[in-house]
Amino acid sequence: MSSTDPHATHGFSTRAIHAGQSPDASTGAVIPPVHFSTTYAQDGVGGLRNGYEYTRGTNPTRDALQVQLAALEGGAHAFSFASGLAAEDALLRAVLRPGDHVLMGNDVYGGTHRLVRRVFGAWQIGLTTVELGDLEATREALETLKPRVLWLETPSNPMMKITDVTALAELARAVGALVVVDNTFATPYLQQPLALGADVVVHSTTKYLGGHSDVLGGALVMNDDALAEKVGFHQFAAGAVSGPLDAWLTTRGIKTLAVRMDRHSANAQAIAEAFVGHPAVARVYYPGLADHPGHALAARQMSGFGGMLSLDLVGGAAAARAFAEHLTVFTLAESLGGVESLVNYPSEMTHASVRGTELEVPDSIIRLSVGIEDAADLVADVRQALDRL
Ligand SMILES: *Cc1c(COP(=O)(O)O)cnc(C)c1O
Repeated sequence: MSSTDPHATHGFSTRAIHAGQSPDASTGAVIPPVHFSTTYAQDGVGGLRNGYEYTRGTNPTRDALQVQLAALEGGAHAFSFASGLAAEDALLRAVLRPGDHVLMGNDVYGGTHRLVRRVFGAWQIGLTTVELGDLEATREALETLKPRVLWLETPSNPMMKITDVTALAELARAVGALVVVDNTFATPYLQQPLALGADVVVHSTTKYLGGHSDVLGGALVMNDDALAEKVGFHQFAAGAVSGPLDAWLTTRGIKTLAVRMDRHSANAQAIAEAFVGHPAVARVYYPGLADHPGHALAARQMSGFGGMLSLDLVGGAAAARAFAEHLTVFTLAESLGGVESLVNYPSEMTHASVRGTELEVPDSIIRLSVGIEDAADLVADVRQALDRL
């Protein structure tokens, strides 16, 4: 965000609603128009109006989203892509060269692991995973491997592990590694990785930022000008940009992010507390519970505990599968972060691709993306599904 930004000193919700969203200069339309045009009239050859030439390079609707994203994460530069993985791909292309190594948490998003291992692996990029909660093991891996990138995700998926961004950023910086934080689960409303020492924030805006399960997208936010220039080049040269309507839908979703996250967090906390000690539940994984191993760290590093939680069911795989199928308010589906509650059975759905790897998820785990419906209805739905086991 530039120092001339009129919203630089405003609070989060004000920035979410106004950054990049000034009324249209020519008509006063309070909601800026969606610019579908792929090309822009030139006033004489090379006479571009405000630099607009071709939509893969720049588009006013995408620019507005990028300003909004930068303002939310407290970054100087933001880039919007067609999906979270497209954003990750552009970042990795911009920073990696053959022979480089990536060190990542042993519970990162499966698609991120697959991208580095199977796409970048073919270009001689090494990949190692580590338990990032173990700072000594991480320090050792950083010193031995000298990775170009340290990639982390907190809270993690689906075990809700919390890792210390500030401590890890310090360790990574000592060996010259770029610190990338996937902030999809927490969102900038609950956690601001750049302020905690990260170099780059990654988002699947498909999840909480879009917030309505109706638009795919991804984003990168950073402060470093030289890195931003490289990322901007890859966004333009490889072209995995978000389309204008997708960018606009994401912008609209972001305007309600703060109120949605408050409700997601309150509903998730209510469910977590309701089922601790239930005879069918071996364990509730939610950082908002006082006995969660990452609770104190999450309380320090985040301003709320978010809408994601996982249950470990006493009855193992059969119970987990039956429970997922018994829910009626929660919809059985992949993905997360929408206003509607979703249930996912990771070992056969989101995490099927990492079975047999170090990212494998136990088959007794159920993941809930808690929506913003009435908490009482959600608690009752979980209760009836558990009671039937
Ligand atoms: C969904 C997701 C991604 C990938 O984003 P897409 O928009 O599906 O490409 C990356 N990281 C996390 C944490 C995710 O949940």
